[in-house]
Amino acid sequence: MGDLYALDFDGVLCDSCGEGYASAAKAAKVIWPTLFNDVDSSLEDWLVDQVRTVRPVLQKRYDNLLLVRLLLEMRLPSIRKSSVAEGLTVEGIVENWSELKNLILKEWGEDRDALLNSYGKVRDEWKVQDLKTWIGANRLYPGVADALKSATSAIYIVTGKQSPFAEVILQEFAKDTIPPERIFGVGAGSEPKLEKLKQLQKKPEHQGLKLHFVEDRLATLKKVIKEPELDGWNLYLSGWGYNTQKEKDEAATIPRIQILQLSDFNTKLK
Ligand SMILES: [Mg+2]
Repeated sequence: MGDLYALDFDGVLCDSCGEGYASAAKAAKVIWPTLFNDVDSSLEDWLVDQVRTVRPVLQKRYDNLLLVRLLLEMRLPSIRKSSVAEGLTVEGIVENWSELKNLILKEWGEDRDALLNSYGKVRDEWKVQDLKTWIGANRLYPGVADALKSATSAIYIVTGKQSPFAEVILQEFAKDTIPPERIFGVGAGSEPKLEKLKQLQKKPEHQGLKLHFVEDRLATLKKVIKEPELDGWNLYLSGWGYNTQKEKDEAATIPRIQILQLSDFNTKLK
């Protein structure tokens, strides 16, 4: 019996944290021109690491923008404007991101929609004007490109990212492994992913295949479990992706979900 893999993209195949950080930093420099005055490359490396740790709890891409400024306020007392930055830890941010987000917006006197627009504009302009460096700010996780190259299973990408951007990243780092017609950019949220899984399992050419869905968001996997029509899917949480230890611990208590390590995933695909 053959296998069909439906794979999420960010947090399963692609580590987009470098790009998320770089987009946020570009936008931050436009919106708050002096914010990066005292930032050197080692502080910048630190920022990217912290962004990766906090990423599982960020709700929107633009949250990166708020996070970068808050992290800088933690490290640089001279630019501090929020009451929470002093003594704050990254673990504290992971624990309380939603509350912190609203509080810092208020204390900074910033308008959410205006920031959202500016961030989106800078990020889109980057992609339009210099797609090559935008692609280069992303990376595939170690071993993934080789695993995709030697994979014999039917592989589909089901991602919230717009499909052309997943395509160009794959083309750059894992050339000609997954044809564009197997890459589905379904938009944000879990529901469209669930719909796509239903469509995939119904296709005549997929009858008899063993179904596997790999995703880094526990919330999405839990929604699949609630959907009786999707009972046939084997579910995996990517242990290397954007999820917290708390979520991994919870996943470990759910019999239907297997937590995969990257090396197991690469072996499975081959
Ligand atoms: Mg993901």
